[in-house]
Amino acid sequence: MVGFYHEIALKGGNRPWFLRQMGNNLKRALAGTGITTFKRDSMMATFKLKSPDQWPLVKERLEHVIGVERFGRAYRVDSTIEAIQEAVPFMLEGQNPTSFRVTARRTDKRFPMTSPQINELVGGQIIDLTGWPVNLNNPDFDLQIKTTGKDTLLSSEVLRGPGGMPVGVGGHVAMLLSGGIDSPVAAYQMMRRGCKVTFIHFHSFPLVDGTSKEKAGDLVELLTQYQQDSRLIMVPFSAAQQRIIVTVPPAYRVTIYRRFMLRIAQELALKYGAGALITGDSLGQVSSQTLENMTTIGTVADKLPIFRPLLTMDKEEIIDKARPLGTYPISIIPDQDCCSLFVPKHPVTKSRVEDVVRMEEDLPVDEMVQEALDAVEEQTYHWPPSAASKRVAEEAHSG
Ligand code: ATP
Ligand code: MG
Repeated sequence: MVGFYHEIALKGGNRPWFLRQMGNNLKRALAGTGITTFKRDSMMATFKLKSPDQWPLVKERLEHVIGVERFGRAYRVDSTIEAIQEAVPFMLEGQNPTSFRVTARRTDKRFPMTSPQINELVGGQIIDLTGWPVNLNNPDFDLQIKTTGKDTLLSSEVLRGPGGMPVGVGGHVAMLLSGGIDSPVAAYQMMRRGCKVTFIHFHSFPLVDGTSKEKAGDLVELLTQYQQDSRLIMVPFSAAQQRIIVTVPPAYRVTIYRRFMLRIAQELALKYGAGALITGDSLGQVSSQTLENMTTIGTVADKLPIFRPLLTMDKEEIIDKARPLGTYPISIIPDQDCCSLFVPKHPVTKSRVEDVVRMEEDLPVDEMVQEALDAVEEQTYHWPPSAASKRVAEEAHSG
């Protein structure tokens, strides 16, 4: 059973730290699968499955560990041709390919057969067992046999992990998470750069129903599979909105809502030690995301940078990422977004900072920010559940 990580190889002096983080994340992700120990050597980790029944769960977990580039299941046998041939039928179980080949690699010359000789012998064995046709250039099934001095690994499936850099090595960021399509994708992009993400969701409950809160919760639960622990901060936004609509002309409300969101998010980010604010903005997608409006909105974040990982992506590209991630079906559930409350069809597209600052002079800005901060609710999420319940038990024990 093998897992590879890839991008970490490029990391020079940071490599030992990256590998340690990768190892910790792997260990944590495999909690509850029955795998407790594994060997890590340079860019590869191997662990032993006690029984083939463990594989489906292990596979599902590994698919979610950021940093894992490729992985697969291998049989480890003695480095003798008899042991190899004995394992071959197991490797064919459940397979029905249109063609096959054998790819042997002898890394230790003490093995008494050459790679072509192994290919020929095992290939003949497979033809006898199955009658599958051989295709050397583009086989449907490729049985790989790697012999070393110590032992031999047989593998066939190579599965793709998420790749990227292990979560934890890229710092900590605060994500403004709506219930929409874009922001969960943006969060995942940051995780793939090794960032731990804290989520902040603004909602207008009870002015609207609680759908957006539920969606945010479901999205965070899903994304937690990639970073193992998440915090979601729910910010009630209706009190601020009710003040804004009294004095701010309709065309400017979204811009000013967004400025308040950023001010509040910045305070929360600082409180929890996040080093940047992340949004799902994509340039020109809607009126609040023109260059002018992003600038007007962004000036209130004066202590932390704002990063927008989707800035240059169009909606199609974003949806293409949301589907395999699994967030898309949650994101498209209809809800009443808090920024669609009390706003006209055609908000201003080219706002100017000085105009907006003048409009805000009528508002008790600090008080509104504080009021929202005082009313936040927090939720935590853990994955896999078995590790979470273990930790809760430990905390209860130590407390
Ligand atoms: P999304 O699909 O992420 O909702 P969108 O295309 O609907 O994006 P907007 O509604 O303009 O775009 O939001 C732009 C960004 O502002 C979002 O990606 C998100 O980062 C932030 N944002 C918008 N609404 C909220 C909210 N209710 N809570 C937290 N962040 C929000
Ligand atoms: Mg939205």
